[in-house]
Amino acid sequence: MIDAIKARLYVTDALGAGGSVMLADDQAHYLRHVLRLEAGQAVALFNGRDGEWRAVIAETGKKGVRLDLAAQLRPQPAAAADIWLCFAPIKQGRIEMIVEKATELGTARLLLVITRRTQMQKVNVERLAAHAREAAEQCERLDVPEVAQAVTLEKLLQDWPQDRRLFVCAERSDAPSLLAAARGDGPCALLVGPEGGFAPEELQQIAILPQVVTVSLGPRILRAETAAIAALAILQSVRLN
Ligand code: SAH
Repeated sequence: MIDAIKARLYVTDALGAGGSVMLADDQAHYLRHVLRLEAGQAVALFNGRDGEWRAVIAETGKKGVRLDLAAQLRPQPAAAADIWLCFAPIKQGRIEMIVEKATELGTARLLLVITRRTQMQKVNVERLAAHAREAAEQCERLDVPEVAQAVTLEKLLQDWPQDRRLFVCAERSDAPSLLAAARGDGPCALLVGPEGGFAPEELQQIAILPQVVTVSLGPRILRAETAAIAALAILQSVRLN
């Protein structure tokens, strides 16, 4: 009988038949001392390119854990709907929630945006990227969304790709609902503001961009993390790609 898969891990190594992978310190520690796995037990590995592989623990020595690749479990799927989430950094605890839920909801890329009313100016992008990786491992995605370095709203708008629609979430507006505006295909993104919302001048500045569609998520004022999660749920369920 083939042993059950005990864990899923993201690695950066190439994955292919006959190959093996040495695990980095923290992942080796996780397998050996948290999950208490031993040689002969199996885990799943993915790297965002080569699909998902069954890997058997071959060696647990001082140098780390060596895994031998046994068989491909799933090929790399075509990328899901190409949705980015642009959001202002918010309080610790809540920002991790945005990263985790956005990863589960299939977001391709997470972009941190510093707006006028953003309170949290210092963001540890590496720590957020680790959250994205863990969420991808848990939700059985075969890729990990990139967490981009924080940029100012001006810079984000300046460099905005021509072919990517940008749905800007604005509370207390008479904008159409995201559900009504979201149908269609092609690359797109959401922009959600900080706890204090966007400044009126910012909303005016954003609206100049031809790719922008201002949208509402209903009559209540949602917390930034609620807005991000609710908007992503809508967007990923109606976008074709
Ligand atoms: N403090 C602000 C609310 C900010 S809510 C105020 O009282 O007016 C934080 C962010 O969530 C906003 O910038 C917006 O992007 C999003 N948001 C919250 N509720 C929303 C709604 N009903 N429709 C669209 N976006 C919303």
